[in-house]
Amino acid sequence: MLNKTIFATIAALLLIACNEPTKEASKYAQDTFTADDGTEITFTYYGHASIGIEAMGKHIYVDPVGENIDWEGEPKADLVLITHDHYDHLDTNAVKILTGKADGYKQLAVSTVIEPFEKVSIEAVPAYNISPDQLDFHPKERGDVGYIINIAGMRTYVSGDTEDNEDVLTIKDINIAFVCCNKPYTMTVDQCQRVVKAIKPDVFIPYHYGGTDIPTDLDALQDSLKDVTKVLIRPLE
Ligand code: ZN
Ligand code: ZN
Repeated sequence: MLNKTIFATIAALLLIACNEPTKEASKYAQDTFTADDGTEITFTYYGHASIGIEAMGKHIYVDPVGENIDWEGEPKADLVLITHDHYDHLDTNAVKILTGKADGYKQLAVSTVIEPFEKVSIEAVPAYNISPDQLDFHPKERGDVGYIINIAGMRTYVSGDTEDNEDVLTIKDINIAFVCCNKPYTMTVDQCQRVVKAIKPDVFIPYHYGGTDIPTDLDALQDSLKDVTKVLIRPLE
């Protein structure tokens, strides 16, 4: 009798589980965060600086790049943002698959704000080098950017390729921060830590790390910030 009851209960639970609408699982790593109004925002990580953002049925990509990524299998883009045109940030083949057009992306000018969808606003913020030996990579006058993406009040900062310049150190009110951390193109662990301590996001996700001959010590970075914010290490090398 007991066994029968247990069986019936399990069968009922399975039925409930099967009736739940299920989102198809991505083959790439993801995190979902919930804004104060209950809006769910899902980030998909394609490696290095390539991030997908889904909220309210809209799909935004930032710097979608990667010849080994199955872009055909990913949701079509409602908006593709690029931070700058270096090869690890702009991949016109990926853009073409996601939007139908090789030039179907936007690179906003510094300080531009757009409201592409209801409850979404996006601001371009400066991204540039300041170390004398790195000024050839992202000099300020190139106009490279990072983005602050506000979805239902949840503010995500995607740094682009930058260093700890005065514009970056004064960014405020960020919930989730993706900050670059690799030499020689962007920041050392110490510089990255300085930026995160200044911005004080709720969650910090190092991105654009490694990928060069100079390894990024993620353990040291995580350890140095353990009393400052929640650090999530994701496959964004
Ligand atoms: Zn770059
Ligand atoms: Zn880069």
